[in-house]
Amino acid sequence: MEQKTLLQYFEWYLPEDAGHWRRAAADAHHLRSLGFTDIWLPPAYKATGGVHDVGYGVYDLYALGEFDQKGGVPTKYGTKDEYLSAIRALQGAGLSVLADIVLNHKMGADYSEVVDAETCAAWNRNQESPDKREICAWTGFSFPGRAGKYSGFQWNHTHFDGVDWDDRRKQHEIFQLEGKSWDNEVDGENGNYDYLMGADLDMGNPEVVAELDRWGAWYLGMTGVDGFRLDAVKHIRFTFYTHWLETLRRDSGRPLWAVGEYWSPELGSLTHYLDRCGNVMSLFDVPLHANFAAASSCGGTFDLRRIFAGTLTEARPSRAVTFVDNHDTQPGQALQSWVEPWFKPLAYAMILLRQAGTPCVFYGDLYGIPHDGIKPVEGLEALLRARQERAWGEQTDYFDDCNIVGWTRSGDSAHPGSGLAVLLSDGPGGEKTMCMGVAFAGRTFVDLLGNCAGTVTLDESGCGEFRTGGGSVSVWVPAGE
Ligand code: CA
Repeated sequence: MEQKTLLQYFEWYLPEDAGHWRRAAADAHHLRSLGFTDIWLPPAYKATGGVHDVGYGVYDLYALGEFDQKGGVPTKYGTKDEYLSAIRALQGAGLSVLADIVLNHKMGADYSEVVDAETCAAWNRNQESPDKREICAWTGFSFPGRAGKYSGFQWNHTHFDGVDWDDRRKQHEIFQLEGKSWDNEVDGENGNYDYLMGADLDMGNPEVVAELDRWGAWYLGMTGVDGFRLDAVKHIRFTFYTHWLETLRRDSGRPLWAVGEYWSPELGSLTHYLDRCGNVMSLFDVPLHANFAAASSCGGTFDLRRIFAGTLTEARPSRAVTFVDNHDTQPGQALQSWVEPWFKPLAYAMILLRQAGTPCVFYGDLYGIPHDGIKPVEGLEALLRARQERAWGEQTDYFDDCNIVGWTRSGDSAHPGSGLAVLLSDGPGGEKTMCMGVAFAGRTFVDLLGNCAGTVTLDESGCGEFRTGGGSVSVWVPAGE
């Protein structure tokens, strides 16, 4: 039995060389050796920016780097054949592959249409202006480069609720198309947060839902992926993915594990979504990321006893996918809230070495981000190894000080050599007495991260005075194992 450990296998500024799928394939056995179980690959379909597009500006869902569209055949990451080869290589190494699914919007239409629309206030999408007017909207998708291969479905303005560009007046506003209303049961920010960007899909149109069902079955059959990361779920009718996932799971007979991106630091929004979608997916623990970012930027004044307060990890541990940073929070990106480098090893210890939550490691933390001169997180590979080899058994928490907190894992018989004690501080260094249990009585422990020199010897009841440096983390394990 292995603990599920995800890797987000991309960051925003990867080289625009159509080489990422080849690199992923070559990296497969290395990734498995680090202890990962699931690899989240970036959106694989042709996006409006072609080879320059990270993938979220999706143009043609059926184009996985196979057709001459948007300036060339490959996506930013490579061709369809290279994508399929990468999936086979990762799966051949014993890894599951999670595909990034972007169904909220489409961009880069093939032709524009003249339609009636009303403008909406950006801060209150329910407030429409009384004037209806004709706009020129980019809502026609006929995919001439694909010429009907795989699907003859073409999109037009009847399949969308809104756009944000009138090409007649060259005007940027939120336009709700005539006869449409925003999908209900979406996030309530800005009145109704159905609209995010591009041409927003109308999930109330049965033709749209049927097409997305057909596409899901095609994509799963073509790629054989094992699960999904679902983009922008707060902007999509809350029950949409219930139907989409349950249909795919039923028809394929596969579990198809899924995690949704509901970008909100409000725990209540996340639990409400889970309830409304019927718990068909897990969610990224955005509140925990927000706590990490806050703790990392307030110079040791954060109360570490409350680092899990208001998080999904605390409220719904089996549904929480924990992460430190991602492609949106990295420097220069839309939701920039980068966890400061000094805090990253502490944060990774908290998501990798505790019981609650399913951790997702960020590519930019594992490999660095050359675009911004950011180095890999020190000790991350050691923490990943500790997760697989040591972080087993009962957990006992010592969250009793605002600066220094820690926990122990008792180990279990299925994992010889398992058990550890973690101590970390966002302020000055110090020590804390923590107990491993009598099984460890008299044993000598060392810090596998090497942040604290020397040893800690446990007493006859298996307790010891463990140490940490200031603004640091130490992971104490039995010496000589
Ligand atoms: Ca939407």
